[in-house]
Amino acid sequence: MPKIYLIDVTNRDGVQTAKLGLSKIEKTLINVYLNEMGVFQSEFGFPTTRHESYYLQANLELVEMGVLKPIRLGGWIRAVTRDVETAFRLVPDIKHLNLSISTSDQMINGKFQGRKRRQDIVKDMVEAVDAARSMGADSIGVNAEDASRTDLSFLIKFGLAAKEHGADRIRYCDTLGYDNPFTIYEATRTMAEKIGLPIEVHCHGDLGMAVANSVAGARGAIDGGQDAYINTTINGIGERAGNADLVAVILAVTKSKGFAGKYQLGGSIDLSRAWKIAKFASYAFGVPIPINQPGVGANAFAHASGIHADGVLKDPENYELYNYEELGRGDPEFVETGRELCTGQYSGISGFSHVMGKIEVSFANEEEAREILELARYANVESQRPLVEDELLFIAKYPKITKKLLTLTPLE
Ligand SMILES: [Zn+2]
Repeated sequence: MPKIYLIDVTNRDGVQTAKLGLSKIEKTLINVYLNEMGVFQSEFGFPTTRHESYYLQANLELVEMGVLKPIRLGGWIRAVTRDVETAFRLVPDIKHLNLSISTSDQMINGKFQGRKRRQDIVKDMVEAVDAARSMGADSIGVNAEDASRTDLSFLIKFGLAAKEHGADRIRYCDTLGYDNPFTIYEATRTMAEKIGLPIEVHCHGDLGMAVANSVAGARGAIDGGQDAYINTTINGIGERAGNADLVAVILAVTKSKGFAGKYQLGGSIDLSRAWKIAKFASYAFGVPIPINQPGVGANAFAHASGIHADGVLKDPENYELYNYEELGRGDPEFVETGRELCTGQYSGISGFSHVMGKIEVSFANEEEAREILELARYANVESQRPLVEDELLFIAKYPKITKKLLTLTPLE
């Protein structure tokens, strides 16, 4: 039975969002959390972007070390041969790639302005697939940008060409959030049947349907006999109105009417990590979680009206579809209301040792303590936010990796 796998794109679509960004350590922690949650793949960045090189290499080292396991880390590049070459030059150990090219006439005419036609799009894409395979890619996803505004017969032709050249799956991008659950279902089902490759759906929320479209698109792929992949971001952070929210997608697939049984998540997803990952992404992006966010919003389990309060006290299932504990909620959270020592770019050894002692990190000697402090200072230079406990623990545990994550050498 085909299954639904999650490919989180927070570290790609999330960070390319206007007015938002993450430090390299924050991106790394997101990969760590996604791995703990059981997400199949993290689209972890841009292998052709120079300032990402050390971050991408360092995260692939974490894969090597078994820290990021079993999650797969995939890079996003344009589906042109020179980008594939650049990616393997800057990040030689990259194993998973998503190759992206526009497929709609709107984009072909509007972006390439007469320089490319449909056949050129297919040619560029298959050459990029061939190049990626020959340079050592283990898995290749081919990304049809603006698929929802692409003539379906061309999309099938495009997908068949990708398959012929050994691509592993086709990403159907509803780049503008134009689809609805009915149209995307028809499209992905037809593509699954006619192309015969797994279909990945990438949905945006411009019409408020990113999650609904994602589950409908996944259902189409499965009904068409293929595995489905859903692109998510944490808290739905993504370009414009955002992407399909990771937690909401998991809830929709596992809890919605008529889904359980036939349409299942592949791998083992640990939903109890939801609270932690949502809170961290909110902090790192500097974007509060909306009060009414599914599962992780402050009001997701709040009841005020007499009838609801009475009903939920008698039996939570009267007014709750799922339990807050399933999402890792319910533990009291410690908020400092008195003296607080923060770790930042101007911290000294005394305050730093105090903070680290509180989280039970001890150092072999002062030299080691000063080295970790120096890394923490640099980490704060990049993030400009006080470092959280998990960041400090990560730095103390992986100082060499941290040094690499913090290394930026422009215009070399
Ligand atoms: Zn997108």
